[in-house]
Amino acid sequence: MYDIAVVGSGPAGLTAALYAARANRSVLVLEKEGFGGQVTHSPKIENYPGELAMSGMEFADRLVEQVLAQGAVTELCEVTSIEDLGDRKLLHTDSGDFEARAVIIAAGVRHRRLGLPREQELEGAGVSYCAVCDGAFFSGQDVAIVGGGNSALQEAVLLSELCRKVYVVQNLPRLTGEAKLAEKLAAAPNVEIIMPALATALEGEESVTGLTIQLTATGESRTLPVQGVFVAVGLEPENRPFEAVAPLDERGYIAAGEDCLTATAGVFVAGDCRSKAVRQITTAAGDGAVAALAAIRYLDTL
Ligand SMILES: Cc1cc2nc3c(=O)[nH]c(=O)nc-3n(C[C@H](O)[C@H](O)[C@H](O)COP(=O)(O)OP(=O)(O)OC[C@H]3O[C@@H](n4cnc5c(N)ncnc54)[C@H](O)[C@@H]3O)c2cc1C
Repeated sequence: MYDIAVVGSGPAGLTAALYAARANRSVLVLEKEGFGGQVTHSPKIENYPGELAMSGMEFADRLVEQVLAQGAVTELCEVTSIEDLGDRKLLHTDSGDFEARAVIIAAGVRHRRLGLPREQELEGAGVSYCAVCDGAFFSGQDVAIVGGGNSALQEAVLLSELCRKVYVVQNLPRLTGEAKLAEKLAAAPNVEIIMPALATALEGEESVTGLTIQLTATGESRTLPVQGVFVAVGLEPENRPFEAVAPLDERGYIAAGEDCLTATAGVFVAGDCRSKAVRQITTAAGDGAVAALAAIRYLDTL
């Protein structure tokens, strides 16, 4: 049995693991996909204090190395539910069960889909949710990115450096991401920003050959001749597996405040998966530290 099990290895989970391991607690980190979390999709991070610029992958690699050096144990598996047995918590996963005295849920959020017909079918055949992962496949080709927030703009900048033409399709009349990124895109000769407009259909049989959009002002439809469609229209939590021990708010986030406490003694929550106003690396790391220290205090009471 471990002292603390951490669900998720993004900045929140890994920071929690770091603090717990440095307090000499045995720590298990359970991750279902890639160690590092969604930050690994970020081409360039320029807002982490003390670092001028780094890629998300670089950041994640360093954090994982730091946590392993402190003695935390990692397992690649998906937590499917958590059972509260009082002083022990049982974590059911797709690779068997694990036991811990306390649990920190740091499961983050996942990409929201556009909801277009055949979107899932064309995933990996032109539809992508990660420019860092898939951008190179479209080198020299034409692509569209749907979205206008920070993630969309960051990804559009990266794609503008790889692709022949990049269309940015935003449903609002303005871009909502950082002004600096918007300025960079406005100055790029191969970027066309189309807004307000809605993506209405994916074209192509075996793979994407175009994206049909509808211009909101005129109702006119236009098909952009692209081989890649990158979707960056926000994120959503995937907290259903934890509902039994950590009640969710109306949007599916784990209902908890800055103290990172859930409704169950010994179960804590950190990072993007909890109800909060700002979802960033800094706030995720902050939560990770708060949740780990709260979990350590809880262990001391057992
Ligand atoms: C493209 C992009 C660019 C970004 N750029 C920036 C930036 O420049 N600056 C900034 O501050 N923030 C940026 N962000 C946001 C930042 O990455 C997040 O705020 C941060 O990663 C949240 O950390 P987290 O640990 O809470 O969650 P996540 O990073 O989402 O990590 C959660 C982890 O939990 C795992 N998980 C989920 N469910 C389970 C389960 N049931 N079992 C096991 N594992 C599970 C997931 O696979 C994931 O690895 C960006 C995000 C994206 C997508």
